[in-house]
Amino acid sequence: MQDEIIVVGAGIGGLTLACALEQRGINFQLYEQADSFEALGYGIQISPNVVRVLRELGVEKQLENISHLCLGFELRSFNSDKVIAKWKLNHDIPYYQCRRADLHQLLFNSIQDQSRIHFSRCLEFYQQKDNQLSLHILNQEPVIAKALVAADGVHSVVRQSLFPQHKAEYSGYAAFRAILPFPEKYRPFLGKATVWMGENHHVVVYPNSNEQAQRYWLNLVLVVKDKNWIDQGWTIPADKEEVAIDFFNKSSLLNGILRDMIASSETCFKWGLFIHKPLPYWSQGKVTLLGDAAHPMLPFQAQGAAMAIEDAYVLAKYIASESDTETAFVKYQQARIKRTTKIQAVSRANADIFHVSGVKATIRNFTLSLVSAINSNLINQKSAWIYDYDVRNA
Ligand SMILES: Cc1cc2nc3c(=O)[nH]c(=O)nc-3n(C[C@H](O)[C@H](O)[C@H](O)COP(=O)(O)OP(=O)(O)OC[C@H]3O[C@@H](n4cnc5c(N)ncnc54)[C@H](O)[C@@H]3O)c2cc1C
Repeated sequence: MQDEIIVVGAGIGGLTLACALEQRGINFQLYEQADSFEALGYGIQISPNVVRVLRELGVEKQLENISHLCLGFELRSFNSDKVIAKWKLNHDIPYYQCRRADLHQLLFNSIQDQSRIHFSRCLEFYQQKDNQLSLHILNQEPVIAKALVAADGVHSVVRQSLFPQHKAEYSGYAAFRAILPFPEKYRPFLGKATVWMGENHHVVVYPNSNEQAQRYWLNLVLVVKDKNWIDQGWTIPADKEEVAIDFFNKSSLLNGILRDMIASSETCFKWGLFIHKPLPYWSQGKVTLLGDAAHPMLPFQAQGAAMAIEDAYVLAKYIASESDTETAFVKYQQARIKRTTKIQAVSRANADIFHVSGVKATIRNFTLSLVSAINSNLINQKSAWIYDYDVRNA
């Protein structure tokens, strides 16, 4: 194993890195703590900056097959059915929405040598000493590795080891996620993401589709300010009626969706949303961080997985082009840290924009409706630095 890079965590980031390393002929093994992949069906938005990476990895067509094409956004007031703003996307590359499990499977399927992926391999800790890196895996002999990429998510053990004084903290927001069947009456939701914004609450709905199976679902994300999170685990099944009562409001459209959620046989899960202040560095010697392990963020710009996917592409590129991995890790960090830190900040700022009340909400609504009525392209221009980013130049 001494000549191999070990990637820890087969989430979206780890699997993308595996594809990118394989494409460049780099030797690696991927360790995942779970016994198998969880088939969590939640939706995920795949913005143009990500589609560009997946195009480079040769899987754009497969992505198209599992995705719903998003043409624009619609912002509504939580307290009515009033549309505050709407705009069409105008990027050269599509914006998709799909089921996270489908994206995960797509990435897994695109790895040709799947014998490199090992389940039930939980990294407990690692040691870097005398130019040697050893990994301690639960119930296994220690592994001597050439280098370690930690793609082990928001509660990364590697990040905790690099920065023992800092832990990911509960953000004060909880999200409820459900996937609903897609009756005919949901047709108006096709082709867009719809967001309701209100005091301490916001809701996002968008269709997921699987073109191959000719099926649609409605993906529902309900976010609430909730100071009383008790860390009982990563995802917790929620009482759907209790959730709906908290979110029922004066929007008949949204109330209808909430009633459908109660009636549906699908489970609604509650997720605590965790954040971490930006790290000063990600790479130390033969070890580096990637994705949520490096830059956990609130999901309010829908860019967490996007950043993990971009990271993976850039990291593979530097590993391939540099003569030693330590230099590659430093160059990768330099190429990525500024952009991901900025996106962490934007995601956080969006929490305030979505949840303001009173005069601030009136000003927000007025500004958004004015811009959307006069020149909605300004909204696209504001996010162009995120979506039009070309990872090949990083
Ligand atoms: C409500 C919500 C909505 C979201 N919507 C979007 C969206 O629309 N678009 C978007 O881009 N992002 C979105 N995100 C964010 C996105 O889900 C995450 O940013 C993304 O999954 C991070 O990927 P990752 O590979 O870094 O980590 P993860 O997906 O968390 O994967 C980490 C992997 O590491 C494994 N692991 C952990 N510890 C160990 C260990 N010690 N040893 C071995 N394996 C280990 C885990 O089992 C897991 O498989 C959303 C998040 C939430 C909560």
